[in-house]
Amino acid sequence: MKKIYRLNDKLRLKVTDRCNMHCFFCHSEGSKGAKDLVLDERTKQILRRLRDGFSAVHITGGEPMLYSSLGALIENLHACKYRISLTTNGYFSLEEVTGQLDSIDSINFSLHSLNEAFLEKIVRDPQVYSRSVIKNILYLKDKTKVSINTVATLDPRQDIREIIEFCFQNAISINILQELNNNILPVIKKGFTDHGFAAVEKIYIYPGSNVRTVFQNAEGNTVTFKEIEHYAPEFLCGKCSLVNKCDEGFSFIRLENNPLQVRMCINQEAVSFDTFMNEYYEKIKALWKTHGENPMWREGSD
Ligand code: SF4
Repeated sequence: MKKIYRLNDKLRLKVTDRCNMHCFFCHSEGSKGAKDLVLDERTKQILRRLRDGFSAVHITGGEPMLYSSLGALIENLHACKYRISLTTNGYFSLEEVTGQLDSIDSINFSLHSLNEAFLEKIVRDPQVYSRSVIKNILYLKDKTKVSINTVATLDPRQDIREIIEFCFQNAISINILQELNNNILPVIKKGFTDHGFAAVEKIYIYPGSNVRTVFQNAEGNTVTFKEIEHYAPEFLCGKCSLVNKCDEGFSFIRLENNPLQVRMCINQEAVSFDTFMNEYYEKIKALWKTHGENPMWREGSD
């Protein structure tokens, strides 16, 4: 299996906690109840400041389409020369972003089921939702890089096969992850192996707990599994009572809330931007340096 190494220098930027869906497995980036991001001079200054280290921003929520300053934010991030990606549930019109596709690298749709019996648990009008998300995906797939994220749950009504078929038929990447700790991925992987798929690539996104395994079959269909390999840097986790117990470990640096705060893991309190800069940023940069100096970790492979 080919191994690929990528440096994790992506910020996750949570723009709102509000969402029209109620996915029971959503961890809300660890900050349920956070206020909407305010795109004022201070926030713009912070985004400019962080550009000296971070090269990419992934816009998350809640549902980013409910955030009124989304267009202005994308414009600002683009002016700072960040690579921009975004996750949406695909329910709403994507008008806000379709005018800015030149600035956006990729759009990720959270789509967990097309089965009404499951969807009615998480959205008020499942049929409207299914039609709308499929329409949005098909509209955008030839205009920008589109992928689908599916969280596999233990609910048998979820039935993710229809989504997988849809992705294969339309040449759309699908990433399957599990609810934190439900441990269903090995079962799903076995199902793929039994149907002629084999693991062809493992992608390590470092520093952090993020690993992706790519499975492929003889027809060239691929499916990616997003997995967690626990990663606990000493400066963050050394004195934490949850070490070895927490679900995600150190994954991505997250910006959220008003006033803007920095969250380094989903289980601990976020810190102010000044605390982040004074106590953590240099340590993260040191991790980047250690791995960035190794050519393998800049899009390297073996
Ligand atoms: S909860 Fe956070 S600080 Fe504690 S071990 Fe996990 S990642 Fe580290």
